[in-house]
Amino acid sequence: MKVGILGGGQLGRMLLQAAANYVVETYVLENDENAPAAHLCHHFVKGEIRDFEPVYNFGKGLDAITIEIESVNVEALEKLESEGVKIYPNTATIRIIKNKVTQKRFYKDHQIPSPEFIITQNLHDLNQHISFLPAVHKIGMGGYDGKGVQILQNEKDLPKAFDAPSVLEKMVNLKKEIAIIIAMNDKGQTAIYPPVEMVFDQVLNLLDYQLSPAELPQKVLWKAEAIALRIVKELNSPGLFAIELFVDRNDDVSVNETAPRVHNSGHHTIEANYCSQFDMLWRIMLGYPLGCTDAILPASLVNLIGAEGHSGEAVYDGLEDVLKMDNVFVHLYGKSQTRPGRKMGHVTIVSRERLDLTHKAHKIKNMLKVCSL
Ligand code: ADP
Repeated sequence: MKVGILGGGQLGRMLLQAAANYVVETYVLENDENAPAAHLCHHFVKGEIRDFEPVYNFGKGLDAITIEIESVNVEALEKLESEGVKIYPNTATIRIIKNKVTQKRFYKDHQIPSPEFIITQNLHDLNQHISFLPAVHKIGMGGYDGKGVQILQNEKDLPKAFDAPSVLEKMVNLKKEIAIIIAMNDKGQTAIYPPVEMVFDQVLNLLDYQLSPAELPQKVLWKAEAIALRIVKELNSPGLFAIELFVDRNDDVSVNETAPRVHNSGHHTIEANYCSQFDMLWRIMLGYPLGCTDAILPASLVNLIGAEGHSGEAVYDGLEDVLKMDNVFVHLYGKSQTRPGRKMGHVTIVSRERLDLTHKAHKIKNMLKVCSL
């Protein structure tokens, strides 16, 4: 089988690492020939995943295509889908999800719990809705990693607001943020992973580390699983999905957003679960049975982010000491250049002891720094 991946970043890289266990011919479309996935595929094609021609030409001879990011040319994928190329997730799903406005409408139309919202077309429109503040303002298209999200406390914040079609969403009184990876195959069978919880640094308000399985009361777990299942059933698309959820102070659960692809919140599944999220997606695309999602051991996960003040050729200060630690797995994404905030790798820690997981996560965050030469 010939399978293409749109995008050659770290997600594509880890997907290709898992492909090595199967008989499959892999293709990557990506603009940067030094991208993390470029050297691990059988066929690298240089091209822009947001443009029609490169995507259509890339996909013409393939059996299946998947994505590592939603900002791809959907028109080309629709044409390929109509010509018989299988797209994971299907193009209708990519269309709904790639725009936060249509994504939020989808939840509303299908009675899937999600924070209350209104749609605003531009700044002028936003000014008519001051009574809705404080709220979270999310740009419809093009935002990622928090860059398309702003908190609007009151009308003083309006001048800096996005002047484009956006979602204005009620602020949730958060207790926890969790994520669930869920898979659906061509037959509509599903497999759901134990949820992950995001632990935030209270001072910096940045994601500190992830913990899996999330510590949740049974009722909250059931609500979260029910929402994840509803979303994939209503999207009615095969593929692998990461559902990001809010748990509020009353233990109510609502969906924040869905990524219809392999995702950062599932990286620990490589070592911590019987079937990784990457292996699961191959099983789906190659028509094999779904894998076992159970946790082998609890895990924590630390992202390796380019340090502030460092740009240029990357060096990993403290790597040797981290590699000496037991039950710690380092993944470097092979990016030669670091920049402040750039995702350069991650470290997974597995242990039966929760304290060991949190202790090692903190230790590694302090020990291992991505700097420049
Ligand atoms: P991105 O797609 O860039 O990751 P998100 O929509 O996930 O953006 O928002 C980023 C973060 O902002 C969330 O992880 C959460 O901490 C906060 N956030 C987003 N929406 C809300 C909300 N309605 N209420 C409270 N916090 C929110």
